Amino acid sequence: MSEGFDPGMIAAPGVAGIQPYQPGKPIQELEAELGITNSIKLASNENPRGPSPKVIKAIESILPEIPRYPDGGGIVLKRALGAKLAVESEQITLGNGSNDVLELVVRAFATEHNSVIFSEHAFAVYPLATQAVGARSVVVPAKDWAHDLEAMVEVITAETRVVFIANPNNPTGTWIRKNELEKFLQAVPSNVIIVLDEAYFEYVMEADYPKGIDYLAPYPNLVLTRTFSKVYGLAGLRVGYSISSEAIADLLNRIRQPFNVNSLAQAAALAALQDDDYVEQSKKLNHAELQRLYGEFEKMGLSYIESAGNFVSVDFGRPANEIYDALLNQGVIVRPVANYGMPNHLRITVGIPEENDRLLNALRVCLEDS
Ligand SMILES: *Cc1c(COP(=O)(O)O)cnc(C)c1O
Repeated sequence: MSEGFDPGMIAAPGVAGIQPYQPGKPIQELEAELGITNSIKLASNENPRGPSPKVIKAIESILPEIPRYPDGGGIVLKRALGAKLAVESEQITLGNGSNDVLELVVRAFATEHNSVIFSEHAFAVYPLATQAVGARSVVVPAKDWAHDLEAMVEVITAETRVVFIANPNNPTGTWIRKNELEKFLQAVPSNVIIVLDEAYFEYVMEADYPKGIDYLAPYPNLVLTRTFSKVYGLAGLRVGYSISSEAIADLLNRIRQPFNVNSLAQAAALAALQDDDYVEQSKKLNHAELQRLYGEFEKMGLSYIESAGNFVSVDFGRPANEIYDALLNQGVIVRPVANYGMPNHLRITVGIPEENDRLLNALRVCLEDS
């Protein structure tokens, strides 16, 4: 008899307790509900310019290959990444988005007997990956919205296998300075894996921002993760990667699915890597628009957390759900971050200038009405 059978009772440790990741509603459904057609989405930190036109061409030319399995080793893409980053291709692990690689790291190193450390207000995938293997999440309180690296070192025990740090962090936009990162790397025991999540590193312009890649040689326990979802404009295709020692990459590659990155994603990523100008233009536009948003927020009396990425979290000084709904009703979709422990903030992705104009106008309307 299957009646009364509760699969949660036999689920692997941790799985039944997972709070599923809350994806946003599909834009078409939202528009249908609201009766509008021209909404703008500033909710997921994608590149508002989309991918380079060269990428679209590369995708079109690979379409006839769809019936074939992709290159399971990602040989060409890894070689191109290796050449660009001056690392060996054996140091790279490709993922179905960098989320995939983040999960591979936890699966490769942690079990239900271990702990994984990350910060309060950090990326939602870290607790998900941790719980999926039944490991214990150790959440370290943030300091001024940023990672408290000293406190993160203090909670490391013999059970700790992985520490996640994001630089810049999502959803706060805060970043770790060079001297802070160096102190942290020195303080973490060499048998603990440090994941430095650099999903937004291409956007950063701050002079004291450390490049994780400089620390791979002296710290063989360091894993960098990066993505084509943000500045490269390929979020829908799902492709990311890690850079680590060859020994760590070997372990990660053993447990990844053989065809985890599809052929369109590989071709698109390869073409995206070859268009540096496009990345540079995107970065400059983002920087200029972010500064403009700061200025306008200040005029409206709104405070915000200064960001090194392509998004900014704005503090409304009270639960932000009403503002979120009011923006939505005007067709402006942003991201509530109450589930990140930030109920008074909304995270806003920097759009192209026309989108930011619309956001600012909509915000003014909300603030006047409330
Ligand atoms: C967006 C983001 C990623 C990228 O995820 P993908 O799976 O590569 O799309 C990784 N880390 C953080 C902190 C992010 O915000």
